[in-house]
Amino acid sequence: MELWYSEKHTNNVKFSLKVKEHIFSSQSKFQKVDIFDTYEYGKLLTLDGLVMVTERDEFVYHDMIVHTAMAVNSEIKNVLVIGGGDGGTVRELVRYPFVKQVDMVEIDKMVVDVSREYLPTISCELDNERVNVLYEDGIKFVKDKNNFYDLILIDSTDPIGPGEGLFTIDFYTNCYNALTDKGILINQNETPIYDEFFKVGINSNRKLKKMFPIVEVYGANIPTYPGGYWLFNFASKKYNPIDDFNEDKWNSLNIKTRYYNTNLHKGSFALPNFVKEKLEDG
Ligand code: SAM
Repeated sequence: MELWYSEKHTNNVKFSLKVKEHIFSSQSKFQKVDIFDTYEYGKLLTLDGLVMVTERDEFVYHDMIVHTAMAVNSEIKNVLVIGGGDGGTVRELVRYPFVKQVDMVEIDKMVVDVSREYLPTISCELDNERVNVLYEDGIKFVKDKNNFYDLILIDSTDPIGPGEGLFTIDFYTNCYNALTDKGILINQNETPIYDEFFKVGINSNRKLKKMFPIVEVYGANIPTYPGGYWLFNFASKKYNPIDDFNEDKWNSLNIKTRYYNTNLHKGSFALPNFVKEKLEDG
């Protein structure tokens, strides 16, 4: 009998992958954690029945959440990753020799443990000496931090369960305070294809605009996420992601990527009209 992983994206849309084997399933204190081995996308990590990463297309998300910011400010030394327990974001960050310290604050140790065991190509830099893995609630962690991080990457689940507070104005205010005066914050900002996701994205964008002088949205094609097209917020105290983008400098670092490149960087901020209009109208 064929085995399929199936995820409801809306009341009228389901996304399915044919599965070789359901390798791992357990309920952590925070969420249901599953690993599937799929035919087309390799190993798949799901939390509460939602795709987090697959071996085949994780590079798109991790390239875009990390390199877009790193190419705008080449003096980033201290980075905070909130969530990101699969390790993909950390893996890309440590490729920059000038990054001194990466604090990854993941609420759920089980996500890190299963990623270490079943997703070694993604979790491979979690033991890097510049990386501190902290098992804490990111919402609490940022509360008392002040003027320390050059970059905060919110690599979170959707605003349900433990991820809910990561989309609030209080949390963004604490992140703002935790950042240096040149600080950049990136968050994953849902798909614009389906209204119920985009509502969350528009809200998050509006809240960030209340406190950061620069907030721009960019997108990437991620086949296993709802709509296949995902947005990110780029919020910054100083740097504009296009005007302050030094492509020659980034290219001189010679970092080999599978998705990100400097032309794509510029293109990713050129949004389709329906996205621009909805973001402007709120
Ligand atoms: N790339 C994925 C996406 O966009 O779907 C997200 C990656 S997943 C590894 C996100 C992680 O955020 C999960 O492991 C989850 O446990 C963690 N997380 C959720 N709420 C959190 C919180 N309040 N503090 C720290 N980590 C949190």
